[in-house]
Amino acid sequence: MLLDSLQHKGLRQRLLQSLYGKGVTDERVLTAMGSVPRHFFLESGLDKIAYDDKALPIGVGQTISQPYTVGWQTQLLSVAPGEKVLEIGTGSGYQAAVLCELGAEVYSIERQNALHGRAKSLLAQMGYHPTLVYGDGFEGLHEHAPFAKIIVTCGADHVPQPLLNQLAVKGRMVIPAKSGKTLYMFVFDRISKTEIRQTKLKECSFVPMLQGVS
Ligand code: SAH
Repeated sequence: MLLDSLQHKGLRQRLLQSLYGKGVTDERVLTAMGSVPRHFFLESGLDKIAYDDKALPIGVGQTISQPYTVGWQTQLLSVAPGEKVLEIGTGSGYQAAVLCELGAEVYSIERQNALHGRAKSLLAQMGYHPTLVYGDGFEGLHEHAPFAKIIVTCGADHVPQPLLNQLAVKGRMVIPAKSGKTLYMFVFDRISKTEIRQTKLKECSFVPMLQGVS
């Protein structure tokens, strides 16, 4: 059973305050994160630390992103209600739920079948209805393109060209990608059909983006 106790709600509020202090100040993002019980996405043994600002294990060697990272990336994405958003790396489904709370039309791809299946049933149980796809995020989702926003939640060794191609004009992609040996957060803004502007932000840490499915 999914139970969001007063204690969980209290811990969540405290987490949001700490995210605000770290620079996640967008009220819509904070409200969305305040509406999604993060502990639902974790095994019950992690209940007590579900609202620590830490990445935590979700099985098959993967992690749910650190709340600060979710807040920061989501704020960079600046999602408007009704926008089509593609996420690469469904993982636990937490980020997808936050995007649903922002009113986006969410598509999310995961290469680990076990995680895809778990996220699918949990999100449905919570009343969210994103389109979840089991597949390789390097390919994107050609049949549903273009996307107003694309968020990649695993660290890429290169920026996948299919994802840039599937970005709408005036669209934005937020992606952790390697520059040399180090992972940085990048923002790609499509100015026009032919022009893309790239902004390199600070260093970050993510599980790797891997080719193919598992
Ligand atoms: N957004 C997730 C974070 C999960 S960690 C959450 O909120 O929980 C990143 C996820 O990306 C992992 O589940 C990993 O399996 C997945 N991943 C890695 N490479 C991928 C690829 N090429 N396509 C799709 N998913 C990928």
